Amino acid sequence: MLAKRDSCAVPASVHCDHLIAADRGGHSDVAHAESVSGEIFAFLRTASKKYGIDFWRPGSGIIHQIVLENYAFPGGMMLGTDSHTPNAGGLGMIAIGVGGADAVDAMAGIPWELKAPKVLGVRLSGKLDGWATPKDVILKLAGMLTVQGGTNHIIEYFGPGVDTLSCTGMATICNMGAEVGATTSLFPFTESMRRYLVATGRSEVAEAAAKAKEHLCADAGAEYDSVVEINLSELAPRLNGPATPDRSWTLPELKTGIAENKWPKTVSAALIGSCTNSSYEDMTRAASIVKQALGQGMKAKVPFLITPGSEQIRATMHRDGLLDVFQQAGGTILANACGPCIGQWNRPKEESSAENAIVSSFNRNFKGRNDGSPKTLNFLGSPEARRPSAPKHPSPLVTAMAFSGQLAFDPTTDVVTRPDGSTFRFAPPQGIELPPQGFDEAATRGWVESSAPDSSVQVKVDPASSRLQLIEPFAPWDGKEISGARLLVKVSGKCTTDHISAAGPWLKFKGHLENISRNTLIGATNAFTGQVNSTTNWLTGEQGTNPDVAFAYRDAAQPWVVVGDWNYGEGSAREHAAMQPRFLGCVAVVCRSFARIHETNLKKQGIVPLTFVNPDDYDRIPADAVLATRGLVGLAPGSPVILEVARPSEPGAPAVEIPLAHTMSRDQIEWFRAGSALNAIAAQ
Ligand code: SF4
Repeated sequence: MLAKRDSCAVPASVHCDHLIAADRGGHSDVAHAESVSGEIFAFLRTASKKYGIDFWRPGSGIIHQIVLENYAFPGGMMLGTDSHTPNAGGLGMIAIGVGGADAVDAMAGIPWELKAPKVLGVRLSGKLDGWATPKDVILKLAGMLTVQGGTNHIIEYFGPGVDTLSCTGMATICNMGAEVGATTSLFPFTESMRRYLVATGRSEVAEAAAKAKEHLCADAGAEYDSVVEINLSELAPRLNGPATPDRSWTLPELKTGIAENKWPKTVSAALIGSCTNSSYEDMTRAASIVKQALGQGMKAKVPFLITPGSEQIRATMHRDGLLDVFQQAGGTILANACGPCIGQWNRPKEESSAENAIVSSFNRNFKGRNDGSPKTLNFLGSPEARRPSAPKHPSPLVTAMAFSGQLAFDPTTDVVTRPDGSTFRFAPPQGIELPPQGFDEAATRGWVESSAPDSSVQVKVDPASSRLQLIEPFAPWDGKEISGARLLVKVSGKCTTDHISAAGPWLKFKGHLENISRNTLIGATNAFTGQVNSTTNWLTGEQGTNPDVAFAYRDAAQPWVVVGDWNYGEGSAREHAAMQPRFLGCVAVVCRSFARIHETNLKKQGIVPLTFVNPDDYDRIPADAVLATRGLVGLAPGSPVILEVARPSEPGAPAVEIPLAHTMSRDQIEWFRAGSALNAIAAQ
């Protein structure tokens, strides 16, 4: 709307997956979401109609699963406003997670640009066996690379092991490339992709891709900036966590970790599915474990929540009896939506108020992400283990843990206890790559509304709404250097987009910038005090929360700056993490390093992202700093910027000068001058 266009310039789709809270289960939770978030869905529906965008109704599924089933194709390129967009790399697509403002570029027909990433080659050899699943490939890689290791890289998989993987397994691996900060992840075209395309009603695409096969893989002799080798035959199942997805453990290692860290030995909930792991293959394997447990007279010992990734998967699972199996074991089938993966989990407080451990087959495990409780430790694993034929031992992971109830559970050595006190071991799980009767496609009909652009449609926004607010363009740059800026907070350690703009209960305000800004930086740790969400208001000298002080600065027209540590803004494409600070008067973020998407998001909103040339200069910023710049006037690609740091507590002392760097291109500098990328686009 603010870009002043009549229609969307490229094929686009809208997905209502983040606002459906997990409570009583599928239909009732969708109905509840319709009642509490109806105005949001009406806004999205009318905006989609007006601009010619496919609109997927609430309950239709999670964006990445629907994209894999309907839109992704080998050799294509796609942007998505969610960091797990690279899921489509499992179908050979270059799919990149971006901020909403980047998507606006593409939707408005403006070239989208990205600093050319490096290419990290991951050579897969061997064949998964016994315990390991495709998920373990990325869990291991996360442990090797850490959450920053893939930054500014495309991860390209190659080697003989690739052809042994299912399409949906490759999607799982690509999905979680976001956890190492990769720009995207990609597999070459394989037979399993062809099978998946045919099974999802796209035989023509499968044929076309097969004909172009030699172009849908690496060139012979291709060189990579770096190469990592993973032998699938040697891969062991893993659990990663808690609190960070790169803390990777084999099961014997985890037993030691639990003892050393005094983590709970028991599991308090097991959650499977989500966009990461809800393929038919995943679900049939998980169901095979559940059937064994039922045969032993067992039910899940802890809450067991199943999130199908789409209505197509859910309906197929229902038709094939899988849902019945999960429900007989006490499992709850949640809506086809993000639910607990994004903090939309109405978990009883008594389950999360004390330290507890949950296991999930999701992709992300930052503190508080799932149930909002900092006391909950989340470990990530496969919904089950792979390969029905080879293993002599049972599956170790999430589904099996629902029945063992133990976090320190290694089925290669451990048994589970029947209700009568006797014990047994799971037999190997049985999985099916694709449904023998095909997917239940009929169920999907009616969930998507497609139409040509219709300018007569009024986009619905109630001016009195607390959930939706039409935004005003940000003011253009005043042409001057920053001066007299105050430090809102100097952040120490991890500061993800969840720390900058928390999810959970705040998600309902995503359409209302003023209201959601009340969560700004509430997860940030103050480097001077070690306290979370606490800082000094230098206009009054009083302590306050980060958002309260930011609002006070905004109301006093006091410009402010955030100083960050390494990989500031890691985690997601959440543009609110940039819009909110901008809305509240932030003029620059200065840190040791940025996560790529967040850095771009800051540029889009007209905030200058700057890094210390010497990372140790981070230590030279005092709490009461008054900050100014030299170098914004005349800013050019690669030009230096100087940060002048004065201390009111040391009157007369010369300002400290700290050299800074920026990565703004010529176009991005225009965004800064216009006040935001949107302002620059609307002016074209
Ligand atoms: Fe939804 Fe979780 Fe997937 Fe994000 S990672 S799209 S919140 S299911």
